[in-house]
Amino acid sequence: MGDITASSCSPNKPKNKKTSEKDDGDFRTYDVTTTSDRVIEHYRAMRANQTLAFHAKMSDKYKFDPVTGAGRRLMTMEDAFDQLESYVDSSDPDLDLPNRVHLLQTAEGIRRAGQPDWMQVVGLIHDMGKIMFLWGEDEDGQNGVDPDGHQWALGGDTWILGCEIPESVVFPQFNALNVDMQDEICKSKYGIYSPNCGLNALKCAWGHDEYMYRMLIANKCTIPPEGLAIIRYHSLYPWHSNNAYSHLTNNQDEETKGWVQQFNAFDLYTKDEENELHVESLWNYYYPLLEKYGLGGQLWW
Ligand code: FE
Ligand code: FE
Repeated sequence: MGDITASSCSPNKPKNKKTSEKDDGDFRTYDVTTTSDRVIEHYRAMRANQTLAFHAKMSDKYKFDPVTGAGRRLMTMEDAFDQLESYVDSSDPDLDLPNRVHLLQTAEGIRRAGQPDWMQVVGLIHDMGKIMFLWGEDEDGQNGVDPDGHQWALGGDTWILGCEIPESVVFPQFNALNVDMQDEICKSKYGIYSPNCGLNALKCAWGHDEYMYRMLIANKCTIPPEGLAIIRYHSLYPWHSNNAYSHLTNNQDEETKGWVQQFNAFDLYTKDEENELHVESLWNYYYPLLEKYGLGGQLWW
């Protein structure tokens, strides 16, 4: 695990401004004239293909038998972290670095701000669900190996499946491409849900958030519920940043939203840092925290 420099580059560099040149308002600008074709294509395919049927397919593919561990593989957090060395998120207009760098930058930002240790752990692992790229197929939007492969079920902003897709979602012009939007119930305001049923009952577009949440539950991780919610909903921008879905969520979810918003600032604004990261010594700090929250040693993935 050598040291890594946050300023190293990948061949997938988007046309957007370099992260190191950005002001806070420059992050997450999505516009067909300035956003790279790769990011636009990511969202077109994601909006078209993420349906309730696809969610069911992925839930089945990644299901876990807690007694036998059937269907899953054993791997340590450190192994997963190292495997992400070769993965760059094609949906992110602000980041052309391996995800591993982003995870350490996020965790270190949270630590520097004096936030609780469980939140530092959340920063370190929040995107580790992208590890699905190791087992994914191009047709399922989970090919993170081929630089031109589809990643629309790994990363990107999510939305709620099975109900009307809000206009506040990124690239709303692609909403009509979603097959579920041809169904009278699925395209209605409440869709398949009942009013204020709560976030927990809603199905998000499948990606690293949902997978990682399920992985942590399966491994009996002891991160507090607000930390698990950050991991599960950090890509649900229409909800946490654009106030969509208030007709489906409940009061408890508003409290959760506060935590997700707090986390989001670290997830976004640590991406422009060019510090050298000493992985070895950072790991010596973080590993005992992983152990504290039940994430040491071999885990089921
Ligand atoms: Fe993420
Ligand atoms: Fe992130």
